[in-house]
Order: sequence, then C-alpha cells, then structure tokens
Amino acid sequence: MIYLDYAATTPVDGDVLEAMLPYLKSNFGNPDSTHAAGRAAAHAVAKARAKVAEVLDVNPLEVYFTSGGTEADNWAVRCLAKGRAAVSSVEHAAVLEGAKLREGGFDLIPATAGGTVTPEAVRTALTPDTGLVCVMAANNETGTIQPLKEISEICKEKGIVLFSDCVQAALLDLKEITKLCGAVALSGHKINAPKGTGALVVKKGVKISPMIAGGEQERALRGGTLNVAGIVGFAVALEKAQRERQRYAAHITALRDLFEEKVKAAFGKGVSVDGENRIPSISHLTFQNAPDSLLAKLDLAGLCVSGGAACSSHSALPSHVMLAMGKSEREAKHGVRFSFGKETTEEEVLKAVDILIECIK
Ligand code: PLP
Repeated sequence: MIYLDYAATTPVDGDVLEAMLPYLKSNFGNPDSTHAAGRAAAHAVAKARAKVAEVLDVNPLEVYFTSGGTEADNWAVRCLAKGRAAVSSVEHAAVLEGAKLREGGFDLIPATAGGTVTPEAVRTALTPDTGLVCVMAANNETGTIQPLKEISEICKEKGIVLFSDCVQAALLDLKEITKLCGAVALSGHKINAPKGTGALVVKKGVKISPMIAGGEQERALRGGTLNVAGIVGFAVALEKAQRERQRYAAHITALRDLFEEKVKAAFGKGVSVDGENRIPSISHLTFQNAPDSLLAKLDLAGLCVSGGAACSSHSALPSHVMLAMGKSEREAKHGVRFSFGKETTEEEVLKAVDILIECIK
C-alpha cells in the first residue's frame, strides 16, 4: 500500500507516543482532581500548554485545548466576537457549516480561480455589522496559502477579529501567522499527534463565549475532562513540527515537484494542477479524461489518496472548494488530492505515478 493522503491524517510520531504513554497508564489522574494523581496530570497539562504557547509565542492562558480542528473551527466561527462573520468560500466544512449556526449570521468571501481569497474580496465582503473574518492559512484541498498579512491589516484597520484555521499550515511559520490573528485553530493528527487532539488559541482581549458547557475546565470556556495524554502528545508534535519544518518542507517539496513533473510529462494538457502559491505537501489534480471510478481504481491498485477533503469523501457532491474556484460540477467531482508527508519516499512517488498512468490510460 502506498499512502499519499497525509493531509487527511498522519501516523503518530515515536517521540509523541513515548511522551504520551505514561499518561495513559501509570499517571492516569484527572487533572481536575485535587489529590496527588490529579496534580501530576494537571502539571503535565500545564507543561504542554506552556510548550504550545512558546511555539506560537503567545501566553499559556491564550491556549484552549480542544478535541481537534473541527471543534476549534466551530467554536471560533460560532462564538468569537459579536455580529456577522465574513467567511471565505474555500474554508473547511467545519468553518462553513459552523457559520450557519452563528447567531449574527455570515457572508461569504469569494476566491479566485487559484483559490486565493484576496484582500480586496475580504474588504468588499465586510458590512457595518461584521465582527469576525475567517480565512484559513492554507487550503486543505489545493494547498493554496492565503494572504493573511494583508487581510490582517484590513481587520486591524476596521477593528474586526481575524480567525485563521491553521490545521494544514504546519509547514509554514505558525508563530508569524498567530501574530497576525485574533485566534487560530490547530489539529494534532495532521502533525503526527493522535486524532482527537488540537487547540484554539484566542488572544487576550478577544471575546469568546463557551460552546461546550458543563465544566470549569479551560477557564470555564470549554467544559469536559481534558485528554491529558492527547494534550501532552499534541504539544510534543507541534514543537517538533515547527522545529523541523524547514527540513520537512525541503524533503516534501522535492518529492512533490518530482511527482508533478512526472504527471505533467505523462498527461500533458490532460491534467491541471489546481491552486496557486501552495504549501509543498498537496498536489490537487484534475484530469480531463479520468474514469468516474478513478478513486476506487487507485484504491484497488494500492494507492491511498483523496478526492478533495477526506471528511467529505463519502459524499457524491462536488467539492465546494473547486466550485468556488470556478470549476464545472463535473470537474469539481473528479479532482484527486495527493498529499505528501515527511515519511514519503521517492520510490513511493514514482510507483504512485505508474499506478496513476495505469488507471487512467
Ligand atoms: N480544517 C482543515 C483545514 C482540515 O483540513 C481539517 C481536517 O481535514 C479540519 C479543519 C478538521 O480537523 P479535525 O480532523 O482535527 O477535526
């Protein structure tokens, strides 16, 4: 089996697992318990919080641990700031669907054919009631990096909170991105931590109301017993991902470039590589003459890839990201996302191209 779906999820890193194990077995206390076992767990959470805060250059009290990117996105788009939200049309479903539940309502910000949300488009989408702008750092289907610096300047000028879903942005400088935003969302399982881990970072002074009630955890803003082992693993993974990001990016860029060069040589004008100004880990391809069953054929041939976002891959609906980029409904149903990780090898990339040629030609 060849796995080229690292934007969907990644394996747990050895260092991450090692850091977590004590909190699954011997140090299993509830961090809210006041006895020694609880205090040991609370200490581990505090250390993890401090580590996440250091990586992002924020205050530890600005870090709220969540069950992952979806929860962080929902919480942000529903509960940050007051008034309407302006939400980019290429956001993950966790933001777009969450926006439908926002009390103040929302407006969509269109994207270009390359999937970019321009600062001009953001400015145009603002209304006198807009209190929140949601633009992701890098798109999960195409890898397109958004111009957050310019967008943040508009938000600052208007006194609007900028929230960015940074779930796919671990190869970028998260410290720099966090500086530009009022809040950012992160997910552990995209960066070699376990599934069901992540965080929402909310800067001091930015108002957020709770989405999950029922406990005093996370400064009474996010109820629920903390996932101590997951939090410890998430912090180790985040620190490692950012420390090693240039090395990982160089490895992944070389493989992505090799992959796209071979694909273009094989299919010429019959394939388009979607997106622009992309993170290195994603190649989204649209084929002119691909069979409807391409994804199933690739799977049978031993290649694990996605048609757009993994969490929508059971849906027969066209990709909302591709539609927002002006693709036809047929094209938007037939894109294939290849995504590369630090674990990917040249041999896997070359074999994947062979399988692709076999399945299409
Ligand atoms: N946001 C983006 C950009 C994603 O790619 C994903 C997952 O695919 C999510 C949010 C959801 O994160 P999680 O799987 O941790 O709920």
